[in-house]
Amino acid sequence: MLEKVVIANRGEIALRILRACRELGIRTVAVHSTVDRDLKHVRLADETVCIGPPPAADSYLNMPALISAAEVTDAVAIHPGYGFLSENADFAERVEQSGFIFIGPRPDTIRLMGDKVSAIKTMKDAGVPCVPGSDGPLGDDDRETLRLARQIGYPLIIKAAGGGGGRGMRVVNGEAALLTTIDLTRSEANAAFGNPTVYMEKYLERPRHIEIQVLADTHGNAIHLGERDCSMQRRHQKVIEEAPAPGITAQQRRRIGQVCVEACRRIGYRGAGTFEFLYQDDKFYFIEMNTRIQVEHPITELITGVDIVKEQLLIAAGEPLRHEQKNIHINGHAIECRLNAENPDTFAPSPGTITQYHSPGGPGIRVDSHAYNGYRVPPNYDSMIGKLIAHGDSRETAIARMRNALAELVIEGIKTNAPLHQRILSDARFITGGTDIHYLEKQLLANR
Ligand code: ADP
Repeated sequence: MLEKVVIANRGEIALRILRACRELGIRTVAVHSTVDRDLKHVRLADETVCIGPPPAADSYLNMPALISAAEVTDAVAIHPGYGFLSENADFAERVEQSGFIFIGPRPDTIRLMGDKVSAIKTMKDAGVPCVPGSDGPLGDDDRETLRLARQIGYPLIIKAAGGGGGRGMRVVNGEAALLTTIDLTRSEANAAFGNPTVYMEKYLERPRHIEIQVLADTHGNAIHLGERDCSMQRRHQKVIEEAPAPGITAQQRRRIGQVCVEACRRIGYRGAGTFEFLYQDDKFYFIEMNTRIQVEHPITELITGVDIVKEQLLIAAGEPLRHEQKNIHINGHAIECRLNAENPDTFAPSPGTITQYHSPGGPGIRVDSHAYNGYRVPPNYDSMIGKLIAHGDSRETAIARMRNALAELVIEGIKTNAPLHQRILSDARFITGGTDIHYLEKQLLANR
């Protein structure tokens, strides 16, 4: 087993990783910026190392500081969590070259999946269904581009190969705007990501976002843990997630899950990962793979009984997967609400001190949060302060429990998006299930 792990992250995911380490008897090193000394996991960790001032570039993105933290504490592995350096192939490489275990896929896998053009090509070759598109970067031949666009059909979406976080994408509705939009996306992509490569895809007009969780060990075993529906989004950011996805049949799950597992075997995938798909008219279209733990992993844990973070640690230690596909069953339904320190009307961040905190409880309620009475939410990082997760034997029960949880939750001193969650949880279309990725922004929030 790994003796000691550096948790190269902060907030709720750092606490989640610390809890998994403790269950497995692994010692923990919490690294933190100067503004994060009072984070819950920092208080609970076996050792702590201050890695720099508040700006993420000087602390949580500071590769030499993180690697030094592992060196001075005699740790054996680094868990990157999500965000920050979790999908940075250069970091994974430096961690390994310094003699530590990177808890995640091999650096070359991260690099392959980090470039959307190479990711799509790899997945297509592995038999994963993709969005009809240019099958590679757009070249300089305008006539060829126009011909290809006509063949795929409008509307189209121009995407940057190096894009991420919902940036570097533009929709084109007709031929007149195609070439100028490509030029614009190209120069923006070059400025933002240092990579001018763009490609195009058919723009799907009312898709749902459905993703498949996978786990693969270093012995050639791979399984999937079913799907999550993350269609409730604002500005391409997930707000509520649920598992399983409403309306997806066991047969659809088995088929798409099997395709993802096969792809993992082919690319020699290691660790936890997520295949993200757009889903429209009963078809799945691969858009990207996330090579890390995801924010919404708990809903999958609740319906499958598999502790994904513990599996990550065991896989990194070289253990074979402890679960076989035939023993993975979907048990009930789970929903997650992301709690952000933000104004529920304007969505402006609302950092500050939490003066009153009471977390909900009762059957089927899990709260993954680093918040506590007196905790000060710093203005320097992502505004997420935790996640409420509800599980029940049916979707109705999960929704009822989440409503109770939201009613019980008390957070004072800062604003949170809890009122938005309450609104969604009582919305008739949400209750029916299966809304598309535009529903929250274009309908629910537009009709206020
Ligand atoms: P990022 O890496 O920035 O998250 P993705 O490729 O995952 O980029 O796409 C982000 C979001 O953009 C998707 O969840 C979806 O809302 C929208 N999107 C991407 N590709 C398409 C497409 N072909 N048709 C319609 N919407 C798309």
